[in-house]
Amino acid sequence: MAKVLVFCEFNNGSIKKGALELLSLAKNANHEIHAVAVGTGSDSITEELGQFGVQQAYINKDEQLSRYNPELFKATLCDAIEKSDAKIILASSTMLARDLFPRIAASLKSGVCSDCTELSFTGDDVTVRKPLYSGKCSAEVNFENSSHKIILMRPNQLPVNEPDASGTVHVTELTTPSLDLKTLIKDVVKGTSEKLDLTEANIIVSGGRGLKEAENFKILEELASVLGATVGASRAVVDAGWVPHNMQVGQTGKTVAPTLYIACGISGAIQHLAGMSGSKVIVAINTDPEAPIFKKSTYGIVGDVFEVVPKLTEEFKALLSQ
Ligand code: FAD
Repeated sequence: MAKVLVFCEFNNGSIKKGALELLSLAKNANHEIHAVAVGTGSDSITEELGQFGVQQAYINKDEQLSRYNPELFKATLCDAIEKSDAKIILASSTMLARDLFPRIAASLKSGVCSDCTELSFTGDDVTVRKPLYSGKCSAEVNFENSSHKIILMRPNQLPVNEPDASGTVHVTELTTPSLDLKTLIKDVVKGTSEKLDLTEANIIVSGGRGLKEAENFKILEELASVLGATVGASRAVVDAGWVPHNMQVGQTGKTVAPTLYIACGISGAIQHLAGMSGSKVIVAINTDPEAPIFKKSTYGIVGDVFEVVPKLTEEFKALLSQ
């Protein structure tokens, strides 16, 4: 049995799904689970941590940590890593984690592997797999001569356990170190969307150049609203200025792995596939039967998005209201 420390991001008093997947993974492997959470409200998730098998939580509810600051986060997490004495550190491969954990790894002089899609434990050892070259191949990664093994897993790849109300957690409060900060984040401008971020969404309706113009994204918004989905896009339409970059899926956008990905008027270029081929079910709608997206799709609809999408919206509306 190894000691595993899981970095838990949370939102509105609930642990994010990516972190729940990691807690479940560690619990199912019978490891001793420690967790670290920072920022205002981190104390509100301790009960939930216990329900997902965490024995020891490190919490720092300092307001300064409610906004990501690389130096403060690095110092606080290094403190939790030292106190827990865990050698395996898991986090969801979010934008924040991909910025933070290489700094921590450098500080600990240890290895870090991000964007992993598979993880297996053998006793205290751990092996991971990650896609390379836009998903054309994958590499199996082992950590050698590394004091710690820091692993960032793509969210939405693993099952989440049912919460167990009998779990109890011991909580240690961490204090924020006083640092001469080189980085000061003065303001964070949030997007206006109330929808889940693409990387956390369970269903994504994505649009490409086949939509013809920005205005036509509203047919995707309508379908997404019925399905409780988030709207994504190909780079072609982001470059055309139809939608913002935070909606881009792919090699130079976000990597997503929802349960359902509906690609509308997207050809399926390798750089787009790199960001979404981990989706469980892929539905493609395209007028060109030879479009490469169909090779990756679970279901393909050869048809015009302007006919198919409104019909899907109507059908789902009727079905889901029953
Ligand atoms: P197109 O390739 O033009 O495809 C449009 C599709 O719509 C066609 O298949 C067409 O048959 C179909 N269509 C047309 N009309 C209709 C209709 N009425 N109904 C249904 N279907 C219709 N791309 C990304 O998406 N994400 C990335 O992160 C990314 N990173 C890149 C990084 C690099 C270094 C490079 C070189 C490229 C990158 N690209 C990325 C761009 C990528 O190569 C493609 O150019 C892009 O994905 C194409 O977008 P698209 O599928 O919307 O457009």
